[in-house]
Amino acid sequence: MDAEQLREYGHQMVDFVADYYKTIESFPVLSQVQPGYLRELVPTNPPTHPESLQDVLDDVKAKILQGVTHWQSPGYFAYFPCNSSTAGFLGEMLSAGINIVGFSWMSCPAATELEVIVLDWLAKLLNLPDSFLSIGNGGGVIQGTASEAVLVALLAARDKKLKKIGKDSMRKLVVYSSDQTHSSVQKACQIAGIHPENFRILKTDSSTEYALSPEVVLNAILKDVASGLVPLFLCATVGTTSSTAIDPLLALGKIAKSNRIWLHVDAAYAGSACICPEYRHYINGVEEADSFNMNAHKWLLTNFDCSALWIKDRNALIQSLSTYPEYLRNKASEANVVVDYKDWQIPLGRRFRSLKLWMVLRLYGQEGLQSYIRNHIALAKQFEELVIQDSRFEMVTPRRFSLVCFRLLPRSTDENQADKLNRALLDAVNLAGTVFISHTVLSGKYVLRLAVGAPLTEERHVIAAWKVLQEKATALLEGNVA
Ligand code: PLP
Repeated sequence: MDAEQLREYGHQMVDFVADYYKTIESFPVLSQVQPGYLRELVPTNPPTHPESLQDVLDDVKAKILQGVTHWQSPGYFAYFPCNSSTAGFLGEMLSAGINIVGFSWMSCPAATELEVIVLDWLAKLLNLPDSFLSIGNGGGVIQGTASEAVLVALLAARDKKLKKIGKDSMRKLVVYSSDQTHSSVQKACQIAGIHPENFRILKTDSSTEYALSPEVVLNAILKDVASGLVPLFLCATVGTTSSTAIDPLLALGKIAKSNRIWLHVDAAYAGSACICPEYRHYINGVEEADSFNMNAHKWLLTNFDCSALWIKDRNALIQSLSTYPEYLRNKASEANVVVDYKDWQIPLGRRFRSLKLWMVLRLYGQEGLQSYIRNHIALAKQFEELVIQDSRFEMVTPRRFSLVCFRLLPRSTDENQADKLNRALLDAVNLAGTVFISHTVLSGKYVLRLAVGAPLTEERHVIAAWKVLQEKATALLEGNVA
């Protein structure tokens, strides 16, 4: 590492990225390239001789950016957001600069200690119960994604249960979720060795706005117990991926507790909103949960990846995931006075991710973060009102947080025509280039999703998105597509 070269190249790179942000609206939000496009543009073999930074940056401009879907564009409204901010970017930069591997306290004391502290800070912003803080038996850890968070929670729950009932009972363990739960729970079951027949996908419908019904959960549990199975794990979601449904944590928590089931709460997207007192009620009942997860990289201005997981019984996680080979032995670990985060996650190695979260929390403060969330929710509300005012469209579920689920109504009442029409509308809008929205299916209906959440999105972008939708809808309806 040549410090002077880093200074020169680093400035050049920051300029490049700053210019990217300045011109981001000039790119089609959804990349329009065809599969395999890059093979045509990049040599088959690696370079033999060193090349200049300028040559690489020229290639990024000419070859890479056309294949980028611009998640940071103000016209990005698809899936859920993946936030970037100056604070988060600088934290990433610092982390790359210091470049440690913080698997144990000793391998980088500051990385471990800062992570413990900032996750306590974030837990306090969310008003999580003290049982999730590091002061007692609980604590927080940064995972890469919500998928890793639910996997490690499931592994901890599985091993805690098997310790009690014996490893021979593995085949009996049952996991409960809903048909709105993120697919990461199914993947976690596959990895954790839960028998595929013991993964319950419980039905939801529009009568509960797609939330899990405690009665349905209880009936499934009682049926399994009667068949000699062992209920293990329930994943409740606050803000489901399709439509931001809210599973009732308090009722589910009581059922979980009385049946000795581990309750995991997935608030990957909506968790960020719960730093605002007016939205905190959505996680009421979290005190009944065993683990709670939210992605700061989704909607809390922290660059990817930063998925915060809190657990009440950290020993369950440690007992499930710890290894202690000779080459990692050290006095601090042996004295049992430190956190070794390698035992809270799947990999050994880990980055200094707490730096970027720390930067975000400090440079925005509670007030800055709250007003950021409130602004997006107000913009989504404005979009919702525009949809409601146009009788050609309908809202499919009530807007919660910053996601609007809606669809264009066909001239006929034929549902096949409705789906065809909305698919065509989605394609037309995304091809136009100024916005990117996505879809889901609810009660068999094809539904459009517009999630406000990109940091650069302003009122004018939301209005422009609506205009494109209206224009394309008019063209489709006049073209008699449906
Ligand atoms: N849970 C919910 C509710 C989500 O919406 C998502 C992704 O959007 C996930 C989990 C998975 O997130 P990750 O990509 O962090 O694994």
